[in-house]
Amino acid sequence: MKDETKCLHSGYTPGNTEPRVVPIVQSTTYVYDSAEEIGSVFDEPTKSLIYSRFANPTVMAVEAKIAELEGGIAAMCTSSGQAATLLAIINICKAGDSFISVSQIYGGTINLFSYTLKRMGIECIFVDNDAPISEILAAFKPNTRLVFGETLANPALTVLDIEKFAKAAHSKNVPLIVDNTFPTPVLCKPFDFGADISVHSTSKYMDGHALQVGGVIVDSGNFDWTKGDFPEITQPDASYHGIIYTDVYGKAAYIVKARMQLMRDFGVYPAAHSAFLLNLGMETLSIRMERYCENALQVANFLASSDKVVSIRYPGLISDKYHSLANKYLKGASGVITFEVKGGKSAAVKFMDSLKLASNVIHVADIRTCVLHPATTTHRQVPEDKLPAAGVTAGLIRLSVGLEHIDDIIEDVKQALDKI
Ligand SMILES: *Cc1c(COP(=O)(O)O)cnc(C)c1O
Repeated sequence: MKDETKCLHSGYTPGNTEPRVVPIVQSTTYVYDSAEEIGSVFDEPTKSLIYSRFANPTVMAVEAKIAELEGGIAAMCTSSGQAATLLAIINICKAGDSFISVSQIYGGTINLFSYTLKRMGIECIFVDNDAPISEILAAFKPNTRLVFGETLANPALTVLDIEKFAKAAHSKNVPLIVDNTFPTPVLCKPFDFGADISVHSTSKYMDGHALQVGGVIVDSGNFDWTKGDFPEITQPDASYHGIIYTDVYGKAAYIVKARMQLMRDFGVYPAAHSAFLLNLGMETLSIRMERYCENALQVANFLASSDKVVSIRYPGLISDKYHSLANKYLKGASGVITFEVKGGKSAAVKFMDSLKLASNVIHVADIRTCVLHPATTTHRQVPEDKLPAAGVTAGLIRLSVGLEHIDDIIEDVKQALDKI
C-alpha cells in the first residue's frame, strides 16, 4: 500500500460485522478464564493483553499504523513526545554512559539532555548539525551508546544529513535515533537512509488538530545489538526472570524491551481515547502534509520578497542553506517557517500581536496557522549564549502555516507586517 492508503487502512482491519472505525477500548484490564492462563501471560507478556499501563487495543492499532508508515518493525506510543525521547534514550543508556546529540533540536529536548539526564548520570555530548564526520567521530567516548538528531529541527529548521550521522554511529557500533516529528513519515522515511530508531511527538502533524499530547517510538529492526556493547538487551534481564531480549525477540529486541521493562516501570502510556483521536488525525496525514508544504512555500516566498523581513529560513526555498539536503531526505519541507523582521524583538512582538487569523499558541504543526516567539517561550530556559547553537535568536518568529486558504493566510501576514 502507498502512504495515503496506509494512513486509512493500516493497523485495523475489521472482520465480518465488526465496527468500521477502530473502537475505543476504555478498559484498564482484560478478563481471563483461569488463574493459570493469566499467570502464563506474565511469562510471555507479548502473548496477550493484561493491563493498559503498557498495552491497549486502541493504542496498538495506531502503533501498527505508524510502524507501517515509517517502515519499521514495531512502534510503541507514549503519553507525550518528551516521554518517547526519554524512553528511547534510557532504553540503552544508564548512569555512567554518554550519547551524542546534534545541538539543533527541540528546546524541551535540550533541557532533558542537558539537565535531567545529566542528573541521572547520563552525559550528552553536543555536536553541530553541520559538523564534518571527523568531528562527530572525535566526539565519541568509550561509553557513548547512541547518536541523536532531528530530521527537520524545531525551530532551527536545519535538515539532518541522516546518512552522515548514521555512518558515524554505525562505524562505532551504536544506533542513530532521530526525532522525525516535523516531516512525519509522510515526508521523510529516516530508516531508508540508515537511521535505526525514530521518535515523534504525535501532538504535532500526526494528530494535526491540537487534540492530544502524545509520542511514539518506532524501531526499524535493522540495528544489530549483538555487535555493540548493549548488555541490557543482549544479557539476562533480572527484572524479567532472566529474559535475553535479542534471543527471544530478535529484530524487535529494542522495542519489546522498551515496553516490557520501561513502560511497565514508568507507565507513560497514552489513554485509549487519546489514541483514538490520534488515529483520526493520522487518517488524513498524507493529504494534509501535501497542503502544508504547498501553503508554506507560498508564504515563504511572500515573506522572502518583503522589505520588512531581514532573514527567512524554510528549506523548501531554493535559496535556503538546507535546500539540497531537504531535496535528498524530504518529500516536502513541512509547514513551519522561521523569520526575523527588521527591528528585532519588539518588532517581532508587534507583528505577532497584530495577526488576526493566526493565533499565538505554544503549539506548532496545527491545522490552523499559529505563531510563536521561541526565545521567550519554548527556549526560555535555554541560556542566551546557547540560543544560537539551537538556531534561535531574540527576534526569531516561528510561523506554523495551517490549512486555511492561502490568500487568507498571506493577507493576515501582510497586514501584520504593515503594522510594524
Ligand atoms: C513538541 C516536540 C517534542 C515534544 O513533544 P510533546 O508531545 O510536546 O511532549 C519533541 N520533539 C519535537 C521536534 C517537537 O516539536
